[in-house]
Amino acid sequence: MIRFMRKGGFRHTLLCGSGLVLLLWSVIACALEPFVLGKDSGFRVDLRPGLGLLRDPAHALDVDSAWQAWRDGRFEPVADAASYGFSHDAFWFALSLNNRDNPARRWLLTVEQPRLDRIDLWWRDGKGELHAARLGDALPFSARSEPHRYPNQALELGAGETLQILLRVESSSSVQLPLRLYTPNELYRSSYDAQAGAGLYYGLLLALLLYNLAVLISIRDATYLYYVAYVAAFGLLMLAFNGVGFQYLWPDSPQWQNSSLPFAIGAVLCTTVMFAASFLDLPRHLPRLAQTLRYLVAGFALLLVFAFTRWRYDITIVFNLGVIALGLVVTAAAVVCARRGYRPAWYYLVAWTLLIAGGIALPLSSFGVIARTVLTEYSVQFGSAAEMLLLSFSLAYRIHLLRDANERMAGEARELLEQRVSERTQELASTAQRLEQANRQLREASLRDGLTGAYNRRYLDQSLDTIWQAAQSGSPLFSLLMIDIDHFKAINDNHGHIAGDDCLRVVAQRLRDACGTPGAFVARYGGEEFMAVLPGLGASDAASQAQQLRLAVSAEPVALEGTLLQVTVSIGVASFDSRHASSLPDLLRLTDQALYRAKRSGRDRVVCALD
Ligand code: GH3
Ligand code: MG
Ligand code: MG
Repeated sequence: MIRFMRKGGFRHTLLCGSGLVLLLWSVIACALEPFVLGKDSGFRVDLRPGLGLLRDPAHALDVDSAWQAWRDGRFEPVADAASYGFSHDAFWFALSLNNRDNPARRWLLTVEQPRLDRIDLWWRDGKGELHAARLGDALPFSARSEPHRYPNQALELGAGETLQILLRVESSSSVQLPLRLYTPNELYRSSYDAQAGAGLYYGLLLALLLYNLAVLISIRDATYLYYVAYVAAFGLLMLAFNGVGFQYLWPDSPQWQNSSLPFAIGAVLCTTVMFAASFLDLPRHLPRLAQTLRYLVAGFALLLVFAFTRWRYDITIVFNLGVIALGLVVTAAAVVCARRGYRPAWYYLVAWTLLIAGGIALPLSSFGVIARTVLTEYSVQFGSAAEMLLLSFSLAYRIHLLRDANERMAGEARELLEQRVSERTQELASTAQRLEQANRQLREASLRDGLTGAYNRRYLDQSLDTIWQAAQSGSPLFSLLMIDIDHFKAINDNHGHIAGDDCLRVVAQRLRDACGTPGAFVARYGGEEFMAVLPGLGASDAASQAQQLRLAVSAEPVALEGTLLQVTVSIGVASFDSRHASSLPDLLRLTDQALYRAKRSGRDRVVCALD
């Protein structure tokens, strides 16, 4: 009897034997102990104890030769966990199922491993009819009998009936065959807790993701970016790993379902390292390692492309090894940072420790090193949820530390600035003082005659103007003395101009010393002529002051180049009197005239303008 079975476009050709073959079959197949469903087996039955296994590394067997191998007794009983790690082999499982007296009739043959790519299934019912179906995430989600994250196939198996079941498993993810038989009700009932747990877990991840995304947008700190990327990658890994993503998010994309796991593992690897480097501030603490990690992450990021090719099996192994290796490196880096006193590193270590148990359990169970149990199935969720929550707190704490450090630095900078400003202000004040002094000296110097040190002509002119103004407005008393050195030309001629200069200096000094009237001063008028200005003095007082000056000059000889020289001066005196001088030039002219008269009348004398 040849029969074609079709399901979802999938097509198998099955050869069924004649009645004789069937008889022979039932006798020989009994070589593998039938798995018996009794009244007390319940509605959720672990089928692994009844499984026989035949590995087919060369993919040499087809369904007929597999049935034949079963008849030949080549199937071995499987280990309890039915877990074989990553393998390219084809795995054939045989199961003889007998419902002795269990009341349920409709069952779901369920593979509690949502990532197996392809499970081909054949079963022979009590009437000898052959059926075929295909399970696994290489098919769209809708191909399953019930819309559940575990691949499942409905079977009819009433009390007293027997089924011979043959399964062929091939996968790019790790091969495990946790095979169970459920009634439909029981399947959903036993999923409640896991569903609620998943809801809680993904809810938490989503909340962390959105919250930290909002923080990222507001403060634009790179660490938050890596954290958000890390949470997203980890969430994707979980969705891909336990089949929830296939059930709810991409039910029609078996292609992506099969790429999502290797892609997510690679993405978790990259984001974990980026986040750790940023959170632990590795560029500052361990710059060389930070640089190396950057290159490694770039390399792994490039490898992500392979998740979408037929090498996704190999790349998954590379990523898993990367997770273990870089996980250890990052832990060591965190220990170093923590020991150097970087406090966020402690938080990171605690969070990391929470994850690491589950994180190591994942690849180890994938490689079949440890058995797949409830703990290995959910420890990653527990560990990762606690880790991400703690990291989210740590991020806030880190920002708090950064803000403190910033404030401290700002405070120090402010103090430094204030100190600089005050230093600068003091410098400026003393400079201003020095400048003021220099100005005063300059002003003073600009009013002095360079040779004699007496006031110069500019000072004299300004002072005369002021005194003249004052005289006009009610202080009429002042006198002027024009003083001229007698025969000075002869001194120059006889002793040279240098000696002449010396003589000018001595005469000027004697005149200044002798001019004791308060407010009076002596200025060089020009050449060897001086003018004494005597405010407040009338004509007679001015005349006697003039006599004093004349005598002061001639009192003792001037020493010039080793010779003593008798120097005398002639002095013209004029006092302000509105009757004779209506202007300053008039008064100066009178003074001048008096001086000429003194010269003409024999020199070394005082002549008053009005005499
Ligand atoms: P008198 O008694 O009539 O005033 O005769 P005098 O020689 O003093 O007068 P005169 O006006 O003929 O000569 C003044 C001289 O003073 C001429 C000039 O060379 C000299 N003299 C003017 N200024 C300076 C100066 O700064 N230094 C020197 N060494 N000589 C000067
Ligand atoms: Mg003269
Ligand atoms: Mg003269």
